[in-house]
Amino acid sequence: MSVSADLVELSAEQRAIQALCREFAEREIRPISLAVDEADTEMPWDIWYQAAALGLTSFMLPASLGGGGMEDSFTQALVQEELCWGCSGIGNLITSNGFFAEPVLKLGTDEQARRWVEPLAGERPPLGALASTEPGVGSDAAAMTTTATRVEGGYVLRGQKSWVSSAGPAEYYVVFATVAPGTRSKGITAFVLEKSDSGLTIGPPIKKMGQRAILNAELFLEDCFVAEDRRLGKEGEGFRG
Ligand SMILES: Cc1cc2nc3c(=O)[nH]c(=O)nc-3n(C[C@H](O)[C@H](O)[C@H](O)COP(=O)(O)OP(=O)(O)OC[C@H]3O[C@@H](n4cnc5c(N)ncnc54)[C@H](O)[C@@H]3O)c2cc1C
Repeated sequence: MSVSADLVELSAEQRAIQALCREFAEREIRPISLAVDEADTEMPWDIWYQAAALGLTSFMLPASLGGGGMEDSFTQALVQEELCWGCSGIGNLITSNGFFAEPVLKLGTDEQARRWVEPLAGERPPLGALASTEPGVGSDAAAMTTTATRVEGGYVLRGQKSWVSSAGPAEYYVVFATVAPGTRSKGITAFVLEKSDSGLTIGPPIKKMGQRAILNAELFLEDCFVAEDRRLGKEGEGFRG
């Protein structure tokens, strides 16, 4: 169902991306939706790259970084609505790099945005992920227990994250950890980890009842050193991101 033009006057750009997404959902997503669902824990890279070729995986990223520049929530909802009409799992997968990019853009420096967000607008974009949830810590994110301990040149991260969307296929991870345990949101700080970082282990994909186009897995952080330039914003600013 589309948003009625009687209620909201869409811009020409919004109508164009809405139509593109509807056509992509009908022509490319719907025919493979069942197979992707039944495959359960396999990342559907083909549809990801097809969507990327049309700019659908990066439409929400700033134009200055090569994205489509459609950064407002309303346009993002229009896109989501159409893609998820094709398949909610695949639709959410296609738009998921916005979830990773947001804290990098909000908290990070221009250099960090170029390092981790600009590649997402490339021809064969990597996937990003965001890790807040822990076993026993969900809605009340301020209660997270993963720690980031300051050491020379950076931080050592220790803890466990769960239910991380795209964990495994993703190259980049925004991980939230506290630098001041016991202070709730005040100590929460955001870091970018890369898949190859030593001390980061990714568990096997979790079997799910739905949203199977997106793999979910746990992250294990065992004395995982990250250099200072991996921190997004200041210490304690993570909750804002
Ligand atoms: C498909 C999927 C993908 C996910 N992807 C990610 C991801 O990429 N990154 C990530 O970090 N996490 C991810 N998550 C985890 C998700 O963010 C958590 O499931 C969510 O935060 C809720 O936490 P919880 O499951 O521990 O439930 P709980 O927080 O334990 O909540 C259980 C129930 O209690 C209700 N509840 C909680 N607190 C209150 C309150 N104070 N008052 C009233 N009701 C309350 C909730 O609404 C819910 O119905 C994903 C989860 C799923 C299922």
